[in-house]
Amino acid sequence: MSETAKSRAAALPHLRRSGLAMGDSIPLPLTMAAIFHAPGDATGFNQYGRFSNPTWDAVEHMLAHLEDAPCVAFPSGMAAISAAFFAVLKAGDRILLPSDGYHTTRALAERFLKPLGITYDVRPTSTFLDGGFDGYRLAFVETPANPGLDICDIAAVADAVHKTGAILVVDNTTMTPFGQRPLDHGADIVVAADTKAPNGHSDVLFGHVASRNADIIAAVTGWREVSGSIPGPFEAWLVHRGLETLDVRFDRMCSSAEVIARRLQGHKAISGLRYPGLEGDPSHNLARAQMERFGFLISFELASEDKAEDFINNCDLMQAATSFGGVHTSAERRLKRGDAVSAGFVRLSVGCEPVEELWKAIETSLDGISGSRLG
Ligand SMILES: *Cc1c(COP(=O)(O)O)cnc(C)c1O
Repeated sequence: MSETAKSRAAALPHLRRSGLAMGDSIPLPLTMAAIFHAPGDATGFNQYGRFSNPTWDAVEHMLAHLEDAPCVAFPSGMAAISAAFFAVLKAGDRILLPSDGYHTTRALAERFLKPLGITYDVRPTSTFLDGGFDGYRLAFVETPANPGLDICDIAAVADAVHKTGAILVVDNTTMTPFGQRPLDHGADIVVAADTKAPNGHSDVLFGHVASRNADIIAAVTGWREVSGSIPGPFEAWLVHRGLETLDVRFDRMCSSAEVIARRLQGHKAISGLRYPGLEGDPSHNLARAQMERFGFLISFELASEDKAEDFINNCDLMQAATSFGGVHTSAERRLKRGDAVSAGFVRLSVGCEPVEELWKAIETSLDGISGSRLG
């Protein structure tokens, strides 16, 4: 981890320190309130729960510290992505999306932007620069893309996008601000699902938009206030608590994923293994240059749907579940969600379990599907 990342991580649990009065609770108080005491001209004070909430302020302070940019919190990752689109796009705009990224972002464009006169094209992440960006108002990348784990050069895309006068949005969900810093590479907006590793305990949906452009932050904040796409205070409180341990969890998860990916390389049941941290991976050289860590997601193919289901369901230290980034190792056959992958394609999210125990459980389950039984 770089020195700046270390000092960012060190300061994170102490952000509220300077604001404490004698006798205040050190942990964040939870403010469940729709209305606030606001006689006369209450400009600048909390007035109504759709406009502001002290628990949002605290979690946004943490997120802003991590992103090194103002942040606006949302009730889910998709709410954050919707906010970024609705805040900056208008009828007649054309946008570019990844063909291999999170499928709901494309569904949003197809079902709700297109009828409003905002058209879109798609392009694979690994060749996102090819074809240029003329005619686009906004380009959106997800790197590494979920679930195939291809990556693209954020700085190069940002340069090319800016030359045409467009803006670049990066979905940084798979990496978190500890793993990759798209704004530092020139992106205009970061969107993320804090549902995943930032909350980390698989009990909350949450998201945020980060930007160093004040007009964009104002527009996104206005969208939240007017659309009513607001996070619940309790969810904000839980994410605040989760962020206090993100550094430790993310470090463990990425370190374990590096070990497990390396060992999976040698297993005969597996093909099409992808992990940006492996020297032979198509993403590796760019990942080394662009990412702080290689992440905790690994993808690979098993021979069939049945073998993939057996591998996931028979592993004692693995949850069969969608989503990723929790303390529990989890895995899913992504064909179930409609991704363009084979029936045996598995996305593995490495959790916080001790790595040798986790590897033993994974290896045992893999041996079970590749052993003598039915070849
Ligand atoms: C999960 C996810 C989202 C959506 O987040 P929700 O909190 O489920 O709305 C967006 N982008 C990526 C890359 C994701 O993995």
